[in-house]
Amino acid sequence: MKFEAIAVENIPLIHKGDDLPSLICERIELQDRDIVIIASTIVAKAEGEIFRLEDITPGKQALEIASRTGKDARFIQAVLARSGEVFVEAPFMLVTTLAGHTCVNAGVDESNIEHGFLLYPSENPDASASKLGEQFERLSGKELSVIITDTNGRAFKIGQTGVAIGIYKIKPIKRWIGEKDLFGKILEITEEAVADELAGAANLLMGEGADGIPVVIIRGLDYYCEGNTSINEIYRSEDMDIIKKGLRCLQKNI
Ligand code: GDP
Ligand code: MN
Ligand code: MN
Repeated sequence: MKFEAIAVENIPLIHKGDDLPSLICERIELQDRDIVIIASTIVAKAEGEIFRLEDITPGKQALEIASRTGKDARFIQAVLARSGEVFVEAPFMLVTTLAGHTCVNAGVDESNIEHGFLLYPSENPDASASKLGEQFERLSGKELSVIITDTNGRAFKIGQTGVAIGIYKIKPIKRWIGEKDLFGKILEITEEAVADELAGAANLLMGEGADGIPVVIIRGLDYYCEGNTSINEIYRSEDMDIIKKGLRCLQKNI
């Protein structure tokens, strides 16, 4: 058993309005069942989600958080612009984005963009993945999946990994429930987060710095799924999320 992870080389610096599917299809011949993994950074650049820090005017909530934490109120305003609920203000902002993903700084990023600018991840990464996927299919004539990734930290552990924040035609979870283990025992709770695992694998080739590899193709694994899929499937429902409940309690006690 094996699969391939292929870095797409020679992608230029991306700017607002760039046609990512054409740029990618010119550099690699896509095949049926490929999984095209794209860093959210270049999706944000192509979508024009680029803001100059000095142009941002902080609102009341951003000013309050800044006065409590000593952080740049303009950066906090940028994070709040993409946030639903705020769980932690310091030492970092931990929020749930408007799309439902819980992460640090709502994914607002200062790296791999010119000095003084911020990148906001797309407001609806599933919609961005679908748009890209449909264009890949049109250009290549192949049936394929798309994952938009970002780099996130994990609870309890140091070190960041690639995670999926938007998907197209791939089931983000593989259910093992009802399958048997080596000894015939029925698995009762195991659900494998395949979209995040694939994002992590792709991130090994992307790196976090100046490698210039924002697109990786995973070939040889079949997770293709016809029809509507959404990364929301991976987000725990409110009533089941004890970590969020705990964080809310913590806020009340401070
Ligand atoms: P994120 O994980 O989505 O926040 O993206 P990163 O900032 O970690 O970048 C992932 C990879 O994409 C790294 O190899 C970067 O060097 C690369 N990258 C970022 N922006 C560009 C770009 O505009 N063009 C190219 N060719 N690579 C880029
Ligand atoms: Mn990022
Ligand atoms: Mn990254």
